[in-house]
Amino acid sequence: MKKFGLLGKNISYTFSPTLHNKIFKLYDIDAQYEIYDLKDESLMKDFLKDLKQKSILGLNVTIPYKTAILKFVDTISPEVQSIGATNCIKFENGRLIAYNTDYFGLIKTFEKMDLNLKNKKAVILGTGGAAKAAIKALLDCGAIVFIVSRDKIKAQSEFKDIPVISYDELSKTSGYLLINATPIGTNPNINVSPVNESIIQNFDFVLDLIYNPQETLFLKFAKNRGKNFENGLYMLISQGVKSEEIWNEKEFNYEKIYDELINTIYK
Ligand code: NAP
Repeated sequence: MKKFGLLGKNISYTFSPTLHNKIFKLYDIDAQYEIYDLKDESLMKDFLKDLKQKSILGLNVTIPYKTAILKFVDTISPEVQSIGATNCIKFENGRLIAYNTDYFGLIKTFEKMDLNLKNKKAVILGTGGAAKAAIKALLDCGAIVFIVSRDKIKAQSEFKDIPVISYDELSKTSGYLLINATPIGTNPNINVSPVNESIIQNFDFVLDLIYNPQETLFLKFAKNRGKNFENGLYMLISQGVKSEEIWNEKEFNYEKIYDELINTIYK
């Protein structure tokens, strides 16, 4: 039996085993996906050595180890190089290869939304790990990217090549796509939005990376204004499916897996 798992801290809540075990069932793969809850970063070196001995083929990585694990890997993919974080490790011939499938999850989400981003203005709210993956995905699709931060000066010193604007400046900005890459609106604090409804009027498409609740206040505003919108579930599922594609070296049907899982997660 093949073995895979998720490495993180305090991750008992995770949806990943449900997602991956569903893929194994749908595609008749003899495999098991486990949770590896690591209490401290200092344990990581031994943990990885141990995993190699146990013939684990792949690992997803989540908070707080997405960057810390990079010092133990042998090869870094181009998207990891650019984003500075990994969420997917492949064990191959005793070597560890790091990928970022959040990036691929975003590209898949743009395809699902039928976006044509070339030379279009895309604005990202927030400057964390999800925003970094979104910047890389948008730039690779040819978009003109802006980021919005509560601390414009600090953010501009970190993102040297991307224009950073304040929330005040955002109110005078329009564009093609607006992405919420902040945690504002996540369950249980669902009655808040990172921006008010009038901001959303200035964009054609709206994407919230949050998937719980299914419809955030941010997306309710988009719906009220008749905008095309999407939540973060397709990204979440796609990053998992892409990890499986990397580990198993075969292609899967993203839509089929999404259709199978959407009712499980929102029932
Ligand atoms: P994060 O690092 O905790 O926060 C992202 C950014 O949001 C921060 O850098 C900050 O930017 C801004 N922010 C934080 N608190 C805020 C507040 N109270 N008001 C306004 N802005 C605030 O989160 P992350 O890991 O990047 O994730 C962001 C969101 O994406 C989360 O909701 C996460 O669940 C979601 N996500 C979804 C997927 C998926 O597969 N769907 C994958 C990854 C992440 P400034 O300080 O510069 O304003």
